Amino acid sequence: MLILGLIGYPIGHSVSPAMHNAAMEHLGVEGIYLALEVRPQSLRDAVFGAKALGFKGLNVTIPFKEEVAKFFRLGEFASKIKAVNTLDLERMLGYNTDAIGFIKALEEKIDPSDKVVLVVGAGGVGKAIAYALLEKGSEVIITNRTMTKGIQLAENLSKYGDCRFHPYEKIGELEGELDIIVNATPLGMEGFERKIPVPEELLHDVLVFDTVYNPPETPLIRKAKEGGCKVVNGLDMLVYQGAESLRIWIGREPPIDVMREAVRKALGL
Ligand code: NAP
Repeated sequence: MLILGLIGYPIGHSVSPAMHNAAMEHLGVEGIYLALEVRPQSLRDAVFGAKALGFKGLNVTIPFKEEVAKFFRLGEFASKIKAVNTLDLERMLGYNTDAIGFIKALEEKIDPSDKVVLVVGAGGVGKAIAYALLEKGSEVIITNRTMTKGIQLAENLSKYGDCRFHPYEKIGELEGELDIIVNATPLGMEGFERKIPVPEELLHDVLVFDTVYNPPETPLIRKAKEGGCKVVNGLDMLVYQGAESLRIWIGREPPIDVMREAVRKALGL
């Protein structure tokens, strides 16, 4: 019996169990994927407890992606950004599949090379996205509520390409300079503040990618549509990152359409 799960805090919004359980059923794999809420002070106990209980793997979400990286040997991409969303508990290896999920979903709408991209957020997902965009040849501007963290990230990533920090309170100044805006914060997500992470004046003539998938239409997506922007929500990113995690755990081709359908159903779409 394959036991998989997701750890995070809070975890109530997750549709990952629906997505992975549908995939395993489709593939004829006897297994279960559980969403497990873990208090931040119990992270280490939870991870090693899951290993002791025979879990094959875990996905890791907000706010643990960086903290959990300290307990594992990291795959090539994860080791560059020190953020992990997929754990192989048998081999004690940590991976990051957020970036590949994001890039696959983005490239369905736009080629990011040579585009100027504002990434809002410097947490686990913001880091992965910014690095992946630099690899694709984008010019990346990072902004973050906590300035020191954003500056640090931009400095670390500047060795990989054109990357700089812009203060969060002043991002309105970037009007007219941007091709793509990415929200890599939980703003707009079910259970978090329902406000938009950027000033409205930025929301025209850009593609807006909100990594939040629940609700599928966040206040940011709604405002961006009103401004005539192309929009992408986090749904396809979720499916593609989940598919890559499943590939790591079971070594088989993931059933993307089945996974997408399960997510849509779980979201009531
Ligand atoms: P994280 O490591 O905890 O980072 C959260 C980021 O959001 C930090 O930069 C934080 O800024 C910022 N932030 C939090 N609350 C804020 C607020 N009230 N105002 C402004 N900024 C705020 O989380 P993560 O793992 O990177 O996840 C971030 C989001 O990505 C999640 O909420 C989720 O919606 C999305 N996500 C989507 C997918 C997908 O597949 N679609 C996958 C994973 C995550 P500070 O540094 O100032 O704290």
